[in-house]
Amino acid sequence: MATRNETNKRVIVLLLDSLMTAPLQKAISNGQAMTFKFLMDHGRFYPEVISPFPTMSVNVDSTLLTGVYSDQHKVPALVWYHQAEKRIINYGSHIRELFKLGLYQSMHDILYNLNNVHLADGVKTIHEEVSLLDKRSASINTLMYRGSATRSLKVPRIIAWLTGSPKTIHVNSPYIFSYGALSKMDPSNRLHYFWRKYGFHDAFSARELIYLIQENNLPDFSLVYFPDGDKSVHKNGPDDVNAIKKADDHLAEILNSFPSREDAIRDNIWIILGDNGQAYIEQDRNEALVDLRNVLDDYRIVKLRQGVTADDEIVLAVNERMAFIYSLDINQLSLGQVAKTIQKESRIDLIAWREGEKVHVISGEKEGELIFQPEGEYRDEYGQTWNIEGSHDILDLNITDKQIRFGNFPDGLGRLYTSFYSHEGEYIIITVKPGYELIGEGSPTHVGGASHGALHKDDSLVPMIVTGIESAPKHFRFIDLKEWIMSMLKQEK
Ligand SMILES: [Zn+2]
Repeated sequence: MATRNETNKRVIVLLLDSLMTAPLQKAISNGQAMTFKFLMDHGRFYPEVISPFPTMSVNVDSTLLTGVYSDQHKVPALVWYHQAEKRIINYGSHIRELFKLGLYQSMHDILYNLNNVHLADGVKTIHEEVSLLDKRSASINTLMYRGSATRSLKVPRIIAWLTGSPKTIHVNSPYIFSYGALSKMDPSNRLHYFWRKYGFHDAFSARELIYLIQENNLPDFSLVYFPDGDKSVHKNGPDDVNAIKKADDHLAEILNSFPSREDAIRDNIWIILGDNGQAYIEQDRNEALVDLRNVLDDYRIVKLRQGVTADDEIVLAVNERMAFIYSLDINQLSLGQVAKTIQKESRIDLIAWREGEKVHVISGEKEGELIFQPEGEYRDEYGQTWNIEGSHDILDLNITDKQIRFGNFPDGLGRLYTSFYSHEGEYIIITVKPGYELIGEGSPTHVGGASHGALHKDDSLVPMIVTGIESAPKHFRFIDLKEWIMSMLKQEK
């Protein structure tokens, strides 16, 4: 195999759900993550890369692939309310919720609408840009995958039968596309039977990547998603190293599928990345779970099965530790009024809503109000300027000489602000403090484990290991990764 110089190395991004810095370092010092260590020793380690808000995988993947926040890519979160279609979109938070929303509709949102309708037309994914360069890319098991080739997803017969979905769905994907049992490359990869989650697990992802390597068919850019860490950390808490140990075994298999590990790191750029962090959740169920139906029991809340009726006042779209709360008629029920009601619950961290260009933020715990909007005399760590009034403490802003440094909410102003432009509707955004999780009708819960979705650094900071290139992104945020990755791919062959 010829040696590749720095300008024609292939780029391989391994996205590990819920990979976090502290347990990764613990696993390394215990000798349980020697392949991670090998890549670190031959590259660089960045412990704090900022995930977009809400810290939910579909939004994170969308920002990674498009280089913009949800104000432009328009995938607001896992769960949100579609005002024009008067219905809650849920890409799969819990099977109970999907049943209530209608299985066919939910499957169609997950398998088709997410990539082909909701992800904005006006932005380009890395896959789309790579094909404009006449280069090739691969997407393996990622939730977001839009590319320039037409592919058909083969819907498993049992799912088609249960949901009434067509057996084949045409989508726009990258040149090389693997999506569980619905589209796979390696004909011998049998890791997708229905008792193994249709192939949406780490072993399947690793197998598909190894197949590309062994067939000598690795394209210029590959994005490979490893989902298993999410469930493991949700269940075992933020110190969990089980998922990291298993991921290390998969990493070893992947590197060992090259003639040697040295070949693997000499000929390729490796980027190993978490997608979101997770905050611990209290052990006591009553303490841990903030039930929004109780907090908002003065109002009539839309029931999932009935959908929106004329009597309803409020819609809840709960994303674990964050929620969108919609007023269906702000002339009858203003956002400020709902915000004041929510403020009585001290476990709520941030309560934010937009009035014109300005975002207002109050808290269930802290006194005062913060009001901010873009463009002003204050400058943050990323060069964004802001007009700010009121209590800086609410968003833990440290300001000296008009320079903003973020504390508990990394890139907090930009990440929160853009979320108010991710979709239509009149809504409040709330998050809970570490230790707590929000629930509505049918929400998943992770009592005594961990959860995510919020703006807090516990949910937001992830590690990144980079091997095979000296350059670094402009800032250590997901929104800055696309430009950096494209700078590698734009090099002449
Ligand atoms: Zn999760």
